[in-house]
Amino acid sequence: MNYKEALQSNIFSVISKAASELQLETYVIGGFVRDFLLKRGDAKDIDIVAVGSGIALAKKVASLLPNKPNVQVFKNYGTAMIKTKDIEIEFVGARKESYERGSRNPAVENGTLQDDQNRRDFTINALALSLNEDSFGDLLDPFGGLQDLENKRIVTPLDPDITFSDDPLRMMRAIRFATQLNFTIDPVSLKAITRNCKRIEIISKERIVVELNKILMSETPSIGFKLLEKTNLLPYILPELVALKGIDEKEGQRHKDNFYHTLEVVDNISENTDNVWLRWAALLHDIGKAPTKKFNKKQGWTFHGHEFIGGKMVYKLFKRLRMPLNEKMKFVQKMVTMSSRPIVLSQDSVTDSAVRRLVFDAGEHVDDLMTLCEADITTKNPKKFERYHNNFKMVREKIVEVEERDHVRNFQPPVSGEEIMQTFNLKPSREIGIIKHAIKEAILEGDIPNEYEAAREFMIAKGKELGLVEHIER
Ligand code: ATP
Repeated sequence: MNYKEALQSNIFSVISKAASELQLETYVIGGFVRDFLLKRGDAKDIDIVAVGSGIALAKKVASLLPNKPNVQVFKNYGTAMIKTKDIEIEFVGARKESYERGSRNPAVENGTLQDDQNRRDFTINALALSLNEDSFGDLLDPFGGLQDLENKRIVTPLDPDITFSDDPLRMMRAIRFATQLNFTIDPVSLKAITRNCKRIEIISKERIVVELNKILMSETPSIGFKLLEKTNLLPYILPELVALKGIDEKEGQRHKDNFYHTLEVVDNISENTDNVWLRWAALLHDIGKAPTKKFNKKQGWTFHGHEFIGGKMVYKLFKRLRMPLNEKMKFVQKMVTMSSRPIVLSQDSVTDSAVRRLVFDAGEHVDDLMTLCEADITTKNPKKFERYHNNFKMVREKIVEVEERDHVRNFQPPVSGEEIMQTFNLKPSREIGIIKHAIKEAILEGDIPNEYEAAREFMIAKGKELGLVEHIER
């Protein structure tokens, strides 16, 4: 079969010309070919394999391009890269790989195209198109990858036990592709993942997180997390989620399965945000429920304080997975810690002061918090579903209204500590903190507006209450 139409971009004729000048057999392989056949939009990466030196080919290609782009050479890997404005082209010499058990870095020797296709992870990623002049556009598909694309299947080209054991990251990649493409993993390959799950321990946390993020950024992330659970990879990666699985029953009272609930929340939020950290927050919003779960006769199942414990767990989890511990982590932590606040609020009649406090505490993230809470509605009772959504709609409206009037989202005290000191002729002392706190409380409660004059007047009254005397300059 010939797919010349995939290779219309000028870059392919240049590569083909360079290859023919160097007399190198050359192919485009992997994700580009797969995504073209799936009509998956414009590729950002092109992988080129040359039977011979990939580096020499890259240099030749660069010399033939009008702007003579820079070639980045990775000598140790025998690869080279050309980056242009909108595309990255990676060149590699065809190779044959053999693995040692304790490592995912194989011994490498030069090989044929077929050797190189053998080392690819899945049949759909082993598809190659010829860039050679006499066969330009011909498809080389030794493992039936085209058929697997049609059947929407993830299959390894060789014995899956070998493929996964050689490089256990491929287990994560299988699940990630299944999630991104909505494909099924071939049952034999799936069993091999389960058999080899423990091997994931030799993979660096950073690489695992790359795959987790890609799963989370898919249209339906639950596909991936269900597969991670089913193949027993999840306990090695996110044991906090595994601990949410299952339903307990005591005295006829059952709680929901918080693992599957969580996955529903993640799918829900993915319809409304592309913010990967907010998706993480959805994934982790209930992790505090496992360690706080209790049963008592009066209340049934309770998870008191799970949000707070969950917030603390977020830090540990991010640290363990070597994820950033900066403001991204703090954001996720804040979302988890505050995840029940709008719910409590919407259950009562929504008062202005409660909304002001919510906006004050959530600050600039209040909209994200509302998005999380809305995604958290997974009831199957249509009446409740509508009622809860309406409640949150009211909370959202109230947030806008209160914010227009009171501006507490990025709260700055209207009267500074400095001014309090000057007014009462004070040195730094406890009283200043007390007055500042009282002003903030009065604003949040709605006793005074968030304005300078009102706050100053309140400060003077409060100072008098504390026995302070207003200092008048003479
Ligand atoms: P995406 O860009 O969506 O991640 P891709 O298939 O281009 O998809 P890359 O990670 O860029 O993924 O890898 C390019 C190609 O290299 C793959 O299509 C596959 O043929 C091969 N490959 C990548 N990683 C592995 C691996 N761990 N084991 C075997 N082959 C791999």
